[in-house]
Amino acid sequence: MGDVDWTAAGAEGLACLKDLLRIDTSNPPGNERPAAELVAAALAREGIPSQILESAPGRASLIARLKGSGRKAPLLLSGHLDVVPADAEHWKHPPFGAVEEGGYLWGRGAVDMKNMVAMSLQTLVLLKRQGVALDRDVIFAAVADEEAGCRHGSLFLVDRHPDLVRAEYVLTEVGGHTLHLGPARFYPVQVSEKGLCWFEIQAEGPPGHGSMPHPHNAVARLARAIVALQEARLPQHNTEVVSRFIRALAAKAPFPQNRLLPLLLNRALSGALTRRLEARNLEQALGLNAMLRNTASPTMLTAGKKINVIPSAATVQVDGRLIPGQTLDSFLDEIRAVVGDDVRLTVLDDHPGTTFESKTDLFAAIARVLERHDPEALPVPYMIPGFTDAFAYQKLGAICYGFAPVRLDPELSFSRMYHGHDERIPVAGFAWGMRVLYELVRDFCGRG
Ligand SMILES: [Zn+2]
Repeated sequence: MGDVDWTAAGAEGLACLKDLLRIDTSNPPGNERPAAELVAAALAREGIPSQILESAPGRASLIARLKGSGRKAPLLLSGHLDVVPADAEHWKHPPFGAVEEGGYLWGRGAVDMKNMVAMSLQTLVLLKRQGVALDRDVIFAAVADEEAGCRHGSLFLVDRHPDLVRAEYVLTEVGGHTLHLGPARFYPVQVSEKGLCWFEIQAEGPPGHGSMPHPHNAVARLARAIVALQEARLPQHNTEVVSRFIRALAAKAPFPQNRLLPLLLNRALSGALTRRLEARNLEQALGLNAMLRNTASPTMLTAGKKINVIPSAATVQVDGRLIPGQTLDSFLDEIRAVVGDDVRLTVLDDHPGTTFESKTDLFAAIARVLERHDPEALPVPYMIPGFTDAFAYQKLGAICYGFAPVRLDPELSFSRMYHGHDERIPVAGFAWGMRVLYELVRDFCGRG
């Protein structure tokens, strides 16, 4: 077989991404089945078998596998088919229209993460067409339900069909996008995810008539706890991944970031510095802040049934996120220190954070392929404040990285695209990512 014709392959991948973007898989309700069927049909045209598994009607995930010699353990490429809902009135182009304009392709899922689904699909197709002999199986999973907690997608596969997705390594979100810092360019690769603690704060007090205010009103007690939580900055916990990430950014960043960034690791200075950064670049500051400490965001309130009755209880649900290595107990101690003993804490759901080894053959292969396609940029392991399907696959012992390559121009911020209005992907940057992913998989899994 000759070399891949990247102009043709890019056009083919782009057409596939457009087809995927035109299928509304907003979660809830998800309804990923038509998207899974589209991927299955594209694989079938190339003679690649796949299977679609449903955890509930319409909640479909697809699995395909290119067999290798079995000398090495499999690599899994995973992308989720569902997207977060889009508010069409705030978009320049319809969120499910897949409109191409000015070098960009608009659509909910363009970077999160139907691009990875299309790229992974094209990678399998090209490996097959090129007749690449493999030492590792290459598994492709296009899964449901990542945006609502993975239960109907990767968690379902891991629990019910573990043999289909068991792999030594997994590539999924969030990472592989260009991060610009002045003239310096980086490719963050996710190797660590924060854990989660969803909990409830309940305040109680004597009931009463609304016409006769009393000082122990449960609603006011709860409000005090919420304000305290909102205004507090929880203690800082520097992890190795985040310390290295910040130092790596600083080493290539222009002045004054090169001086200021490392100071974030200094507990005595980082609070004041973060406040200054929040005033200048809020998005960046929030991201860095979430990498350095446990966080807690109040999100849902419940109290009272009638306007003229002081209720005996008021509750708020809180989205808490834990730095890897922090325990549930240590987190709750931090919360207790802020909200006091006047209110009750109840944990609703929790799981610990994860950090994967970043000194691996796969990471080295990622660095080599990026060196080839963007020599001046630096790949850097980093931590994300949320969780991804990696949280499911790590239960089977996989080392998971967030690497869905896409080359972004300086004016396009990945974090603003992510779940934002006008989500879009540069057409050239998508084609670039497709080539990077294909070459990475070919180099890493091909017979050496
Ligand atoms: Zn995603």
